[in-house]
Amino acid sequence: MLLTLSTTHRPATDLGHLLIKHPDRAHAFDVPAGTAHVFYPEAGEERCTAALLLDVDPLRLSGARGRKQAATPDSFNLGRYVNDRPYAASSLLSSALSRVYRSALRGESRERPELARTPIPLEVRVPVLRCRGGADVAVRLFTPLGWTATATPIPLDERHPEWGDSRYVDLTLTGTVRVADALNHLYVLLPVLDDAKHYWVAPDEVDKLLRAGAGWLADHPERGLITRRYLAHRRTLAGLALARLAEQRLADEPAAADADTVDDTGPAEDGIRRSLAVRRREAVLAALTEAGASRVLDLGCGGGALLAALVGDRRFTEIVGSDVSAHALTLAARRLRLDRLPERQRNRIRLLQSALTYRDDRLRGYDAAVLMEVVEHLDPPRLPALEDAVFGHARPHTVVVTTPNVEYNVRYEGLPAGRFRHADHRFEWTRAEFAAWTSRVGSTYGYTVALRGVGDDDPEVGTPTQLAVFNLAEADR
Ligand code: SAH
Repeated sequence: MLLTLSTTHRPATDLGHLLIKHPDRAHAFDVPAGTAHVFYPEAGEERCTAALLLDVDPLRLSGARGRKQAATPDSFNLGRYVNDRPYAASSLLSSALSRVYRSALRGESRERPELARTPIPLEVRVPVLRCRGGADVAVRLFTPLGWTATATPIPLDERHPEWGDSRYVDLTLTGTVRVADALNHLYVLLPVLDDAKHYWVAPDEVDKLLRAGAGWLADHPERGLITRRYLAHRRTLAGLALARLAEQRLADEPAAADADTVDDTGPAEDGIRRSLAVRRREAVLAALTEAGASRVLDLGCGGGALLAALVGDRRFTEIVGSDVSAHALTLAARRLRLDRLPERQRNRIRLLQSALTYRDDRLRGYDAAVLMEVVEHLDPPRLPALEDAVFGHARPHTVVVTTPNVEYNVRYEGLPAGRFRHADHRFEWTRAEFAAWTSRVGSTYGYTVALRGVGDDDPEVGTPTQLAVFNLAEADR
């Protein structure tokens, strides 16, 4: 079975850097189903094609290797050896793809990091793809992802057109897409089209699906079909996955992307009314400056208000905004006028779609990270995943966290008792709860913690916003 990926981006041979496979060599990998080969039938300045060929070993596949075989297999046994698996693209090709292009799937490229993040002209061809439900299904699944898809049914026998079409199609996709996205689309959708998963579907398949589907599956009009087929029609797992996708869509609501619902404008001060949102931003900038940070992450950046402030300060040389919500990132790009920034400014800033509950290598190696009004948007059982991803994996020297102080809510007129400040808040902490959380996270991951308040300090209930600065202990750097 064969899959080719071509680009006309120039120089086209950069494809080798993106896939981390040198165009001048043939590469072979041992995979559970047989041997996967990567080679380049063409590798020029103007067009370059990488081919992934999976040479299936039917014996290995049947699990028969090493076992004694009857001299004349009966028809049942024969089916285990004589089938379409070696020839038609299927879940086997998908698992080979994930093994062979592992880093490219994650969007990593040491040699061409910028290009890995950039959509480039691509053409994907899968000459024989098993497509359950007909060629239309392939078009319905790939088109919403920005591909122009052509799926041509392959006749059962060319000499006998009257026999009609087979279950296989010849698939071509063209589009301007990031290589990592293209590979993730294929990784999920090839087995979905095949709809005959050959392996046991374990609960961690839900995580695999959501990871590969990050940024495109939640909003896909066929997410129901994709999820059910990918999870081999296991109802409980599909229900779980769809619920989590719905959660991601909720986070996409514009309401979640910006400031609090209540009017938290503080009282007049020096004749100037500075809203709590402004004071919060200033407090975060001050903490970053104290830390001497120049390469910073704004995690859960929302509509980009803090990013805009960071861009305005030349001390920050590299600024990354990340959010799980594509909608929020669109708003941020608009607010920053990214498309109109001069090249030098443009190169300082980057927006990434990323879920904070998964480790993301792209977030490693920064001086500081900000989680401004973000943690309270996560369901409490998901918090440990965020702690691991931010403090354990991304591991910046400094982490600045802000979150509401629930005790202060009684000072907000019009906020009924017991209600949170924002419809999407999953919790709001008292000062004691925040202190306990920061201290546990600090000692677990080797950070010292300093707590501050932001906004007017009420003698009884404290400040409306709580802020913590975590610093990586010297010994752990
Ligand atoms: N930091 C911004 C936005 C706060 S609103 C500000 O202070 O203005 C919370 C943001 O967190 C939203 O944009 C939401 O999309 C994002 N978010 C919620 N859960 C997330 C998750 N699991 N991973 C990444 N971002 C998430």
